[in-house]
Amino acid sequence: MTVRHRTAGHTHPHWLAVRQWALWSIPASARSFMLLVEAAAAALTIVLLLAESVSRTELIRVAVLAVLAIGYAESAARVVRLKCYLGSGKACSNQSSVWTFAAVLCVPAGWAAVLAIVIYIHVLVQRHRDKSGQPYRVVFTASTVMLSVLAGGTVLTAVGGGTLTGGLVHTTAVVVAMVVCNLVNCGLVLIGVWLTLRPPSVRTILPDAPALGYELASLVLGIVVAGFLLFIPLLTPVVLVLVIALRRSSLVNELHHAARTDSKTGLLTAAAWTDNATGVVSRSSRDGHPVTILFCDLDAFKAVNDTHGHLIGDQVLVAVADCLRRELRSHDGLGRYGGEEFVVILDRLDLPEAQRVAERLRAAIRTLHLARDVQITMSIGLAHHEPHHGPPDLHELLARADTALYQAKDAGRNCVQSA
Ligand code: GH3
Ligand code: MG
Ligand code: MG
Repeated sequence: MTVRHRTAGHTHPHWLAVRQWALWSIPASARSFMLLVEAAAAALTIVLLLAESVSRTELIRVAVLAVLAIGYAESAARVVRLKCYLGSGKACSNQSSVWTFAAVLCVPAGWAAVLAIVIYIHVLVQRHRDKSGQPYRVVFTASTVMLSVLAGGTVLTAVGGGTLTGGLVHTTAVVVAMVVCNLVNCGLVLIGVWLTLRPPSVRTILPDAPALGYELASLVLGIVVAGFLLFIPLLTPVVLVLVIALRRSSLVNELHHAARTDSKTGLLTAAAWTDNATGVVSRSSRDGHPVTILFCDLDAFKAVNDTHGHLIGDQVLVAVADCLRRELRSHDGLGRYGGEEFVVILDRLDLPEAQRVAERLRAAIRTLHLARDVQITMSIGLAHHEPHHGPPDLHELLARADTALYQAKDAGRNCVQSA
């Protein structure tokens, strides 16, 4: 299985060549938004640094967190790259919130923002070293993190500081600060990504449940780090064991997800679909529900490749997959079976209902607006099983759907045939 890296591989201009900055190639609205966020982050940090007093102990905490963050980032560089690589273009976390949220809890907010600056300067150095990523993104991410820690810090200041001292109010404030940090950070990043990419649906850029869980776990670890710094400072370095354990366990999830996902279309792979469909079939059998398989094949797809090239062909495949996903909503029953073949499993629908779904899919593909005005149609073979015919068999259903698909092709394509 191959997973493409969506950002690496380009050659980036030297950062001093201002006119060649990638920043100028993104939409003006995205650029304005990013500059606004950056200016706000810088201004608020300066204001807070001037307004808040800081003790020597707090400065030492900032320094310790910076050392831990950079030490961790250096040791984790390979894994973070792998995570971003597996994350297929979605925003990926580098766990910096472990350190920045710890700072929110045990130093003045302005200094937590300074820590974010230090951490992201290091990220810039790393990216410059391995010639990956675009600096404007790092600067923007740093600003969103700064604003999120400032917001979290404000929540804690509102209850009079002195966090992690127990008590219902302070404990609640820590939880609220965690949520606020996450919301501000995710919200700003999502707006930035949305303005830059203008995806047809916001859903495609929303972080998924494992990503949110990972971010939440990072914040919780931030609380642990702050606890060490405040109460047993000399033992603080042992939290690295926890952070590394989190990193490893999250990688298992990413790998599991990547192994089940077709890298081109984001749909289930054939093996993962079969695994999923086996479960659906046995559940239907147990509960006495009907089950339907749709075997879908694009018509004359070879001609699209031959006329417009394989890159346009790939774009068509991605657009078709997105269209099917939109039409079916729950994308679990949908997989890429092979090249230009897709499979769907539907349960709890009777034959006429399943036929209507198949017709809807066929019609949606026929009216898709594609690059270079490519027109594409899809033939569908449908195999349906009613519970009173005994327990269903997935392989037999697939074979029947495949035969029906051949009949649809023989009948002139762009149609649905039921086995
Ligand atoms: P039919 O209507 O009979 O299905 O005709 P067809 O041209 O769609 O069928 P055929 O099986 O002859 O060709 C399928 C084509 O799909 C051939 C192959 O190059 C192309 N294909 C398979 N996977 C990919 C892919 O990932 N990207 C691109 N661009 N093309 C692919
Ligand atoms: Mg085919
Ligand atoms: Mg085909």
